[in-house]
Amino acid sequence: MPTQYQIEARLDYLAKAVSVVEVIRYTNSTGEALSELVFAVEANRYSRVFSLESLTAGGEALAEYELEKNRLAARLSTSLQPGESLEIELRFQLELPEIPEPGDDRRPELFGYTERQVNLVDWYPYLPPYLAGEGWLLHDAWYYGEHQVYESADYVVDLTLVNAPDTLVVAASAPAQSEGTHLRYELKGARNFSLSASPEYRVFNGEQGGTAIAVYTFPFEGNTGADILRHAQQALDLYTRLYGPYPHDSLAIVEADFLDGMEFSGLFFLSKGFFNIYDGSPGSYLISITVHETAHQWWYETVGNDQALEPWLDEALCTYSEYLYLAEYHPEAIPWWQQVRVDFYQPEGPVDGSIYDYSGYIPYRNGVYLRGAKFLADLRERVGDDAFFGTLSDLVQHYGQADLLTSDAFFNTLAERSTADIQDLVAEYFTAQP
Ligand SMILES: [Zn+2]
Repeated sequence: MPTQYQIEARLDYLAKAVSVVEVIRYTNSTGEALSELVFAVEANRYSRVFSLESLTAGGEALAEYELEKNRLAARLSTSLQPGESLEIELRFQLELPEIPEPGDDRRPELFGYTERQVNLVDWYPYLPPYLAGEGWLLHDAWYYGEHQVYESADYVVDLTLVNAPDTLVVAASAPAQSEGTHLRYELKGARNFSLSASPEYRVFNGEQGGTAIAVYTFPFEGNTGADILRHAQQALDLYTRLYGPYPHDSLAIVEADFLDGMEFSGLFFLSKGFFNIYDGSPGSYLISITVHETAHQWWYETVGNDQALEPWLDEALCTYSEYLYLAEYHPEAIPWWQQVRVDFYQPEGPVDGSIYDYSGYIPYRNGVYLRGAKFLADLRERVGDDAFFGTLSDLVQHYGQADLLTSDAFFNTLAERSTADIQDLVAEYFTAQP
């Protein structure tokens, strides 16, 4: 039974504040008795943003808890036995942080508000995966890269808008089931549930293979949203054919009022910086990042991994998916991709480091993303298309919405499809030997 999240949120748009009642129905499928629950509370990494008003489990207040940085650990009065279920309720307030202006000395922040946008991402406490014998899988944030690991869970979100302009448009991880100031969403088999609201969004709607796609841009971007929509439709079509079905009913693509692209379940952000340098060509960051983030709906969303310890498993696959997209639809743009996106940086470094292993964002990206994509290209050439793409669709089938993918599982799945000797490739790109 996947964990069920029922979240009632009241967003005061003017005050930039959210009050939330969150009910989590959790079944202990870890095989171990649990004496403690650990929640990831990313909003608590910001000062004076998250305040917990109450925490109960099975109707009883959990008085013994510790909240430090992104970790909320609560002791249970009686251990939760394997197979047992528990209903947990959290009531909390968010005073949203202002998203800072971009600077070279800090990573882009996504959570919070700017003059024209409110982003609720990783905004509620959630239970990370629990590994038998190891415990709750919750990592510290780092200066770059993503540190969170998500279970696949089911969501019902009720959003009430207060003090909001009539023109407010809300983008979300799922289609809204009602209109007006009360919005209801349901999303199954997802890593998280995210929202982005702005009174300025211009919306470009389309669909692909039954999936509704909506692109939300600021009005000064002209018709760039239509280009993004077209490329996202093609990417969704290609990745469905290569990897397996798209996991949700909808995809929201949101222009970010910060300088970063970022994937979430059924929703991703595209940096306004990529819009600024877009020249209409498929050989451009805006389009490559569009299809990269689309690919995360398979590598991150459908097939989960430990983004902190083995980031190559989603990032290398999504970067290589950029190439696959151009090769399928816009081969004339491949020289741009190879020269500007990859070779320009003369990437070095291992593919398989954790986010904590590199000396900065650039070495991290060069190793994990860029050399990761080179590794996958070499691997494809070595094992052949049938084994390579067969392995990727096997991974989606075997790991989709289930266990987290690991490097070992990647290579074991490949070994079932191909007996080719890849030791030299692994030695060239990896520090650890599978
Ligand atoms: Zn990525």
